[in-house]
Amino acid sequence: MTSPGNGSGGSGGGDWTDRDIVLEYFPATHDRLVPRVLRYRLDDVGDGAVEVRERDDGEVALRLQAVAPAGNPTGELCCDLCQRTGTRRFLRVYRAEVPGTHGRRYRYLTACLDRRGCEARRIDDAPLDVLLDTDA
Ligand SMILES: [Zn+2]
Repeated sequence: MTSPGNGSGGSGGGDWTDRDIVLEYFPATHDRLVPRVLRYRLDDVGDGAVEVRERDDGEVALRLQAVAPAGNPTGELCCDLCQRTGTRRFLRVYRAEVPGTHGRRYRYLTACLDRRGCEARRIDDAPLDVLLDTDA
């Protein structure tokens, strides 16, 4: 069993996170822009699939599958993860099975194709928590 809330890692202290630095030196930063401790990371696994993994143990929490682009190719999309905007050349719509529905229901997420850049800009897990919310 893993215990929730043990996300600090334990490498002896003295490690400043981006969040610590912002809070210490830029205390006027709007709360929306203060980096959170991220629980998940996203990995491209080929064929347009993206795995959402727990940072702690690498366990796959969710799989996203790219949806074939449709509609106006010059229309702008906004990344749900990092708020970057751009056309379908740079962003894509992904779908994720609603947990517990065995493929009967899906939720959708818009995200950058540039996974590394997107992960660097992403400041919290809130959009992923919404996708992971089980069907009530
Ligand atoms: Zn993004």
